[in-house]
Amino acid sequence: AETEEKPPLEIVIAAPRGFCAGVDRAIDIVELAITKYGAPVYVRHEIVHNRYVVDSLKAKGAVFVEELDEVPDGVPVVFSAHGVPKAVPHKAAERGLNYLDATCPLVSKVHRQAERQVEAGRHILFVGHEGHPEVIGTFGQVPEGEMTLVETVEDVASLTPPDSENLAYLTQTTLSVDDTAEIISALKTRFPNIVGPKAEDICYATSNRQAAVKAIAASCDAVFVIGAPNSSNSLRLVEVSEREGTQAMLIQRAHDIDPRWLANITTLGLTAGASAPEALVREVVDALREHFTITERMVKTADERIVFKLPRGLEDEAA
Ligand code: SF4
Repeated sequence: AETEEKPPLEIVIAAPRGFCAGVDRAIDIVELAITKYGAPVYVRHEIVHNRYVVDSLKAKGAVFVEELDEVPDGVPVVFSAHGVPKAVPHKAAERGLNYLDATCPLVSKVHRQAERQVEAGRHILFVGHEGHPEVIGTFGQVPEGEMTLVETVEDVASLTPPDSENLAYLTQTTLSVDDTAEIISALKTRFPNIVGPKAEDICYATSNRQAAVKAIAASCDAVFVIGAPNSSNSLRLVEVSEREGTQAMLIQRAHDIDPRWLANITTLGLTAGASAPEALVREVVDALREHFTITERMVKTADERIVFKLPRGLEDEAA
C-alpha cells in the first residue's frame, strides 16, 4: 500500500572507492584517441575490468579485441591499463600500427623494476594471481624463465629458485595488503638475502580502498562491493570485509542485488573497486531507495589527489 512505511536502511559508503588515477587515465586515452583519429579505435583487452565502462566506450566507437592479430592494419590500437608483454608493442611497431599505451604508470614502474633486477642477475619471485593480465604483462618484460609466480604463503616453501642468494621479489599492484605482507615475510625468512622494492608495489588505490572498507565493515550487517568478477582489486575488497567478519557480496549492477540479502539488515556498507564508476554506486543507492528509507553516511579514510599525465600525442587533445 502507498501509505506503508519503507523500512529504514543506513548505507555507509566507503571513501576512497571506485575509479583510481590509472583507470581515469586509461578511459581518457580511449576517448581522446576517438576524438583525434575518429572511430573505430581498437582496444586490446578490456581497457579496465568493468562492463559498464567497456559498453559506454563501445557506444563511442571503441572496438574491443583480445589479441593484436584481430586489429586491422591502419587503425589505432590502445593497450589496456593492466599492461602488456613487451612482445605486443614490438609486434604493433613491426606492423606499423599506431598504438597508444594505457598501461597504468604504477604498473609500468613494476615492469622497469623487473628489467633492472634481471639485468642485475637476479631471479624474480613475483607475487600475484595466475592468469591475470597484469601478471602476464609483467612476466612478458623479462626473458622466459627469469621470473617465478608465487601465489600463496604455502607456495614459498616449495620454491626451487636457481640461486637462492640472487633473488628479488616484486608484486602485482592489486593484491591484498595483508596477504602480501605475509607472503613477503615468508620469502624473507626463507631467503634472507632477497631484495625487494623500497615501497611495496601494491598501489595507493588498492591499499586505500582496502583500508576504507576495513574501517566500515565491522559496523555493517553486510557489505556490497561494486566490481567485476575478473577485477582483482574488487575481489580483495570482498575478502577484507569478510575477514572483518561481515559478509560481502560482489555485484556488477543494481540488478544483481538479491532481495534476500537485505532481510534483517539495517546497516549496509557500500564500496566500489578501482574500475567501477561512481554512476554505479548511485544506481545501487537509488535501487535500494525503492524499498527502504535510506540514510547515507560516508566514512573517509584517505584523500586522493593523484592524477597521471597523458601519453605524448594526446595532451593537445585534452587541452
Ligand atoms: Fe594503477 Fe592501481 Fe589503478 Fe591499477 S588499481 S590502474 S595500478 S592506480
